[in-house]
Amino acid sequence: MEVAIRQKTISVRMFKDKDTAVLICDEAVKYINDINRRRNQITPSYNEWSQPRAIDIFKYLPRNNCKKCGLPTCMAFATKLVLDEVNLENCPELMPGSENYRLISEML
Ligand code: SF4
Repeated sequence: MEVAIRQKTISVRMFKDKDTAVLICDEAVKYINDINRRRNQITPSYNEWSQPRAIDIFKYLPRNNCKKCGLPTCMAFATKLVLDEVNLENCPELMPGSENYRLISEML
């Protein structure tokens, strides 16, 4: 799926159906309006963000290729994490609250 937010338009494509696309657009509008309402309370962050590399995430995964996440390898899981196609919670081997879980969460 792709979502592009511009000054006056929101464009979506590659959704499985129109209803899902409309729902995502509605949520995006609510999100943006909420930010606008709270703009005076928000402290901007000037830290540069760059998309993490799958190899950097892979370092903190269990690396046992157990396949419990439904993927053949931990590297495949790391790649899908970077692409936002899976959630960290999909790896049952990685304990929430663990140091590695925290480090990966901070990268995403
Ligand atoms: S469930 Fe976790 S440890 Fe197992 S293969 Fe997937 S990412 Fe690796």
